[in-house]
Amino acid sequence: MAELTISGTYFTATDPNNVQSVKDALIMIDQTGVIQRILQPSDQEYAAQLQSARQADRLLELDSDQYIIPGFIDLHVHAPQWPQAGLALDRPLADWLNHYTFPLEVKFSDPAYAQRVYHDFVHTLLANGTTAAMMFGTIHFDANMTLAKEVVSQGLRGFIGQVVMDNPDQTPDYYRNSSAKAALQSTENFIQAVLKMQSRTGQTITPVITPRFVPSCTDEALVGLGQLARRYNLPVQSHLSESNWEHGYAIERFGQHDTTVMDHFGLLTDRAVMAHGTQLTPGDWQVLRERRTAIAHCPISNIYFGNGILPVNRLLKLGNKLGLGSDISGGYTPSLYHNARQAVKSSQQLTDGVDNHLLAEQRGVQGSRITMANAFYLATRGGAQALHLKAGVIQEGYTADLQIVRMHRALMPLTTADIFQRLMYQTEQADICHVFVGGREVYKA
Ligand SMILES: [Zn+2]
Repeated sequence: MAELTISGTYFTATDPNNVQSVKDALIMIDQTGVIQRILQPSDQEYAAQLQSARQADRLLELDSDQYIIPGFIDLHVHAPQWPQAGLALDRPLADWLNHYTFPLEVKFSDPAYAQRVYHDFVHTLLANGTTAAMMFGTIHFDANMTLAKEVVSQGLRGFIGQVVMDNPDQTPDYYRNSSAKAALQSTENFIQAVLKMQSRTGQTITPVITPRFVPSCTDEALVGLGQLARRYNLPVQSHLSESNWEHGYAIERFGQHDTTVMDHFGLLTDRAVMAHGTQLTPGDWQVLRERRTAIAHCPISNIYFGNGILPVNRLLKLGNKLGLGSDISGGYTPSLYHNARQAVKSSQQLTDGVDNHLLAEQRGVQGSRITMANAFYLATRGGAQALHLKAGVIQEGYTADLQIVRMHRALMPLTTADIFQRLMYQTEQADICHVFVGGREVYKA
């Protein structure tokens, strides 16, 4: 018998363009948290399985206005920036970093402060339907371990990076690794401590190689981080051609694009996730495709800091790996629902263009529009592919990382396709009723 059976209608992405819905299914989850079987009402065993799960009190039966969708996967989020989410978004990137972000991140030298923020942060991600996240911490070992402990105790699938930023030219005196050597040693200590925690708890908690971005790192640090990524076969995360400034910085310092620099240091692997990429060129896209490196699309953050819109439709068609990131606090919300909406809106603006002093046919980039199904794919299946997780899909053999949401009241008859749109456009945190990671309930409203 299944450990838990959920009966209800679900939505799941079958590929970047299509969403499948199955009405009144039985999702049967085994003791290891994997979806062992999915039965439909037409299946012979359906009635018997429903009955026995009910009798054993192992059935979660959804109301008629509740729906099951995969948990979302946030590919780019800065855990220590949670306290300032929604602040200072009117400032240019350099000002935002130097006057808001760095002074906030340095506070995580205090473990008690880290504990308070990270407890709330991890809870908030789960409450928003996010079941896995690739996170930046700070440069502080103790605070990063506090984040790791919160991830384990609350049940999020966590990919956590200890940030490296040792370049005196691009980081403030008060918030910088003392040297490349010290940064690399501390990173290796963090890797070993997290791997130990992983083997002790059996949970998905993974250390991530995390150069903040090319400007903040010396060559020595970048060389060492590339070596650590290889030696431990670990994921890598960073920012890549996020803005005009960042894109131009690499050209000025190395005479090469950010992508070429990262690649040179061995930081573009099939386990790497590079955030933003708004200024990448078709040549850069090709390098990322060849390396199987994913891009974390952060559409809300990009509106403020990106100086451009990532051409998601083109990249999906070319076969680049893509997922979605909230980029707290370059983005103001941890909700990937909001980010999926912005991804669709931004793509529409890229298609039409925004300067009405130009002729209509010269304003935009034709064919850039994406659908909500595309955005849903990024938040689920695309993210899982980037992190090598067998999740993001409701299918036999995949882990039961799920969210159950209540749809806003329907005042007219809705088709299944309408319901999907409704859920994606209107779900807020208060509408999320249950969240499961590996079949275990980690959040209940
Ligand atoms: Zn970021």
